Amino acid sequence: MLEDKNTEKIDLASLGEFGLINHITQYFKIKNKSTVKGVGDDAAVLEASKQQTLVTTDLLIEGIHFDLSYMPLKHLGYKAVMVNLSDVYAMNGTAEQITVSLAVSNRFPLAAIEELYAGIQLACDTYKIDLVGGDTTSSTKGMLISITAIGKVSKDEIVYRNGAKETDLIVVSGDLGAAYLGLQVLEREKQVFKVDPNNQPDLDNYTYLIERQLKPEARKDISGILKELNVKPTSMIDISDGLASDIMHICSQSKVGCKIYEDKLPLDPQVISTCEEFDIDSTMVALSGGEDYELLFTVPIAAFDAIKTNPNFSVIGHITAENQGMNLVTRAQQEIELKAQGWKALKNN
Ligand code: ADP
Ligand code: MG
Repeated sequence: MLEDKNTEKIDLASLGEFGLINHITQYFKIKNKSTVKGVGDDAAVLEASKQQTLVTTDLLIEGIHFDLSYMPLKHLGYKAVMVNLSDVYAMNGTAEQITVSLAVSNRFPLAAIEELYAGIQLACDTYKIDLVGGDTTSSTKGMLISITAIGKVSKDEIVYRNGAKETDLIVVSGDLGAAYLGLQVLEREKQVFKVDPNNQPDLDNYTYLIERQLKPEARKDISGILKELNVKPTSMIDISDGLASDIMHICSQSKVGCKIYEDKLPLDPQVISTCEEFDIDSTMVALSGGEDYELLFTVPIAAFDAIKTNPNFSVIGHITAENQGMNLVTRAQQEIELKAQGWKALKNN
């Protein structure tokens, strides 16, 4: 019935909490056998499996984690799901359910929440995930979205951060740094827009970067690819804070050191050209950009042949003894200590 109305004008208060929940969840279909009961009762019901259960949560706050002046709500919904699925895949697991908790101020009309849920639904359909619950409340200012993902993995397939061994190879899927540069491009356009709202940005040279920032994809495929290659990682993490920071998590939890080779870092051509344009160091961007949502893992050296010929992967270094520290080997063969600065430090430069 709401379909006939202009939802742009409907405010959330007039709909009421239950009307809103019903409206936004009605088009979600259950896809997994393990979901016994989704939205609609006091709690969701999931069938217990023989495998181990994975649970992960992320909280995203407007003004801190996202800026709605260049992040369309549909993309925000999609990305909020991806961030969580990525954590499940980084355990070598399968994701099956999410819950979505939302706090919104009355500045958002119903249409805005519909957009957000359109993104959440697209993510659920693409990745075969059931939305099984959540909570909805009002906030005095801004939007806050918290998603929990639930998944599973068998005991002998689970991969932790702490299993890396000396001589293991360090491997990353996809390429690095594009999401950070996408954000820089969007920030720049926002400033230009503030000065002249009639200025139509030409973003053709940055399409890949912007897509990586606004519509990242979690690497659901990697677990299967590795299984087919008969390779089981000894440790794994997803790249959310940046390669440097995330390899340091693996090293400190595994009590090992590492060498990363600058000339092995996988960079998209748009990353290279945009770094030149912005006059920033592409290695810094690859190391500290963050939000790549690629998987970073270690494999025994015997897996080298299988990994190196696969286009999804780049071997970027190897694990060393803990007392050798964590180092970057530059193109000039100099060794410098890796620093986990994260994207915040990049921003201050
Ligand atoms: P309760 O008062 O028992 O917490 P609610 O009225 O908040 O229940 O929620 C009713 C149903 O709607 C529950 O199944 C809950 O998980 C689901 N739900 C509430 N908010 C959301 C949301 N933002 N997204 C998805 N499901 C939601
Ligand atoms: Mg509730």
